[in-house]
Amino acid sequence: MGRYTGPSCRLCRREGEKLFLKGTRCMTHRCAIERRAYAPGQHGSARKAKLSNFGLQMREKQKVKRIYGLFEKQFNNYFVKAGRTKGVTGTVLLQMLERRLDNVIYQLGFATSRKQARQIVGHGFVHVNGRLVNIPSFQVKENDEITLEFKKTGKKIVDENIKASENRAVPSWLEADRTHYKAKVKHLPAREEINFQVKEQLIIELYSR
Ligand code: SF4
Repeated sequence: MGRYTGPSCRLCRREGEKLFLKGTRCMTHRCAIERRAYAPGQHGSARKAKLSNFGLQMREKQKVKRIYGLFEKQFNNYFVKAGRTKGVTGTVLLQMLERRLDNVIYQLGFATSRKQARQIVGHGFVHVNGRLVNIPSFQVKENDEITLEFKKTGKKIVDENIKASENRAVPSWLEADRTHYKAKVKHLPAREEINFQVKEQLIIELYSR
């Protein structure tokens, strides 16, 4: 499946908030939002249009899609699946996104961004319950055991990532043993354990049009 390869900071500037797409850089004064807190493009700094309801719904969907690094079709598939699953659609949608293996590797602090986590998974360093899983969209389940195994490469990069992420808390639905490159999914994430500002109701309203 493809991935967005354009400039990440442009996406944050479009959404008008930090989406933390670039790892350590996002924590420094080099963050583009700190320096140019307006929309990208020639007229970005001049125009500040008031958003319609549709605009608000669209921006919320784009924000979530960009945080998890998904294309429209992929995000749409998640929404359809969430709608067919028992439970509150918005919460199920966020849970499915959080349960992606690339997101889990990022949340555990083995990567500094979801983009980098995706590479770590793709390079075959991640095992779930003893079996190699190199699919970033793989959905983790309760009690899954995650381990990182390295051959010649990878360990140095992951060690640097762990160091850079030491101040980032691991969500309470995960248990991390960063020293031994191990982790466990304690339970599936509850809505209040998904720790970024999102109004999922707006996304539901957008897809219900
Ligand atoms: Fe977004 Fe990070 Fe770029 Fe800042 S540095 S604009 S948070 S991707």
